[in-house]
Amino acid sequence: SDKLAGKVVLVTAAAQGIGRAIAESAADAGATVWATDINEAKVAELSHRTNVTTRVLNVLKSVDVDALVAEIGTVDVLFNAAGIVHAGTIEQATEADLDLAYDLNVKSMWRTIKAVLPGMLAQNEGSIVNICSVAGSIKGVPNRFAYGVTKAATVGLTKSVAADYVARGIRCNGICPGTVESPSLQDRLRAQGDYEAARAAFIARQPIGRIGTPQEIADLAIYLATATYTTGQMHIIDGGWVN
Ligand code: NAD
Repeated sequence: SDKLAGKVVLVTAAAQGIGRAIAESAADAGATVWATDINEAKVAELSHRTNVTTRVLNVLKSVDVDALVAEIGTVDVLFNAAGIVHAGTIEQATEADLDLAYDLNVKSMWRTIKAVLPGMLAQNEGSIVNICSVAGSIKGVPNRFAYGVTKAATVGLTKSVAADYVARGIRCNGICPGTVESPSLQDRLRAQGDYEAARAAFIARQPIGRIGTPQEIADLAIYLATATYTTGQMHIIDGGWVN
């Protein structure tokens, strides 16, 4: 389709998983896409695609975020996909874990949104889509303390931005995925020792009987990019997990 024709799109964590599917789908929808990640080699795999420019971007670094947005110019649609999953309860989470989770899951969104806002405000139009999670705000998930705390904070961030800029043409929505296939999900399953048992347990969480695909999340993200009557909302996509 040409749903995003003429739109300039910035995607964080676009090398793999949900961010990559979003970058590819945005390009398919006709956007001019800036696909970014800290993984230079992997994000560069996208550079052969028409209308996709790849860049190394560490979302922990405000200076780098500001410099990239200065290079891009006005961003019409921002997709924030960067995030990190720490395993562990409150007893196991170190202060360093909590600080990194907050920096990468929450402050990264603060950095990118602050950087793109002036351009969006100048044209009275913009859409921001944050990849949040059902973990933390919608559902307490075992062994995900630092993750749940910080992903819950992204809900507050999303709603706050939406409330402040709704009258100036800017929408900000969140997506709350349940369990989604990705390289880091594979790492988490392998880390549990018995991969097959861990995978079966993760599948069993969803009444729908399977794990979601990055493409399913990307389809919702592209929808939200142009969904002109929704802002400040969490959009749950989880195979029926929290129902
Ligand atoms: P993933 O975890 O496999 O990949 C994460 C990507 O982030 C990698 O390409 C990595 O290089 C990049 N990254 C890490 N640190 C970065 C930094 N400092 N700057 C820029 N990029 C950085 O992908 P995923 O599982 O699809 O996760 C994407 C988002 O979706 C995350 O925010 C995650 O919390 C969220 N999410 C995932 C699931 C799931 O089950 N996979 C569920 C709910 C929410």
